[in-house]
Amino acid sequence: MAVRAELLKNIRSVEPYVPGEQPQEKVVKLNTNENPYPPAPGVQAALDSLDPADFRLYPDPTSSELVRSLADYYGVGEDQVFVGVGSDDVLSLCFLTFFNSEKPVLFPDITYSFYKVWAELYRIPYECPALDGDFRIVKEDYYRENGGIIFPNPNAPTAIYEELDFIEDILEHNRDSIVIVDEAYVDFAGRSAMELIGKYDNLIVTQTFSKARSMAGMRIGYAISNPDLIRCLNDVKYSFNSYTMSRAALVCGAAAVEDRAYFEDSVCRIKETRERTKKELAELGFEFTDSKANFLFARHPRYDGGQLFRELRDADIYVRHWDDERIGQYLRITVGTDEEMEILLKFLKERLSQ
Ligand code: PMP
Repeated sequence: MAVRAELLKNIRSVEPYVPGEQPQEKVVKLNTNENPYPPAPGVQAALDSLDPADFRLYPDPTSSELVRSLADYYGVGEDQVFVGVGSDDVLSLCFLTFFNSEKPVLFPDITYSFYKVWAELYRIPYECPALDGDFRIVKEDYYRENGGIIFPNPNAPTAIYEELDFIEDILEHNRDSIVIVDEAYVDFAGRSAMELIGKYDNLIVTQTFSKARSMAGMRIGYAISNPDLIRCLNDVKYSFNSYTMSRAALVCGAAAVEDRAYFEDSVCRIKETRERTKKELAELGFEFTDSKANFLFARHPRYDGGQLFRELRDADIYVRHWDDERIGQYLRITVGTDEEMEILLKFLKERLSQ
């Protein structure tokens, strides 16, 4: 039965974000930038410590255990940390909290496609300055009146990282706007903008447990900023949903943060595999950006991106591809284990020699 026009006119209609596929069968899964390695061993012990009898009780609405471990880890105050259900939750609340101007929020034309969806959902005006021919953000495009700024660093899906002086230039030119730096992939890249928090009161940095900490399935993300902005974020959160973090997420998250050595080792392995894969892809004639993330953004000058994507998929090798004018020739390939990259490279070698 079709919904009547009278009803439809008061119903919010949005074009949703389309997440990468989560196939149930076993495939070589290089399509959603997950970590191929398990989380820190302490996470198992944290899980074992859970008593299902406690599940009848609501979790701690302030997420204090997890907030404390993140505050200790980064050497900031507990009042400077906000946690949410993945950074998607944190970022969507940031849009709701900080982007309330009549002026447009600015983010790049090629970037994390969820930004546009949140802007549309919350009816926030936005404009998308184009990346340059090398897929770099043009910082001067952000030196104008706006209702806020957000971009990932490294950017997605381009995987390009900008140094902190670049971020500072944007912050300097936007003292009266909130600037959000989405650092989902920064652990694979370089210095975090977190060290600028004390210097710029308009800066919010978000990070996630989904990538370098191997916990996409637990859904944990966080924002670090000054206490005033974190308070605003909490006020909105408590007006929306008090109990965002499950008991399991709180204890497992805290356990993961404690194991610095495991984290650093896992990041190091992925970076080594990334650099090795770059060399091999170059030998096959692929062109790609200088990725500083846990994924590569590559195209082959002689093979259509969409076609290659479908052939890989038929061979149970899942990567990501967008039917888009500017990036339709590119594949976004998550850095998996060495074995997974071998399977991918073997397929490409055979395909390209035909
Ligand atoms: N930001 C960027 C740039 C991303 O690519 C992702 C992952 N899809 C996220 C944020 C959200 O990640 P999560 O919600 O798993 O923390």
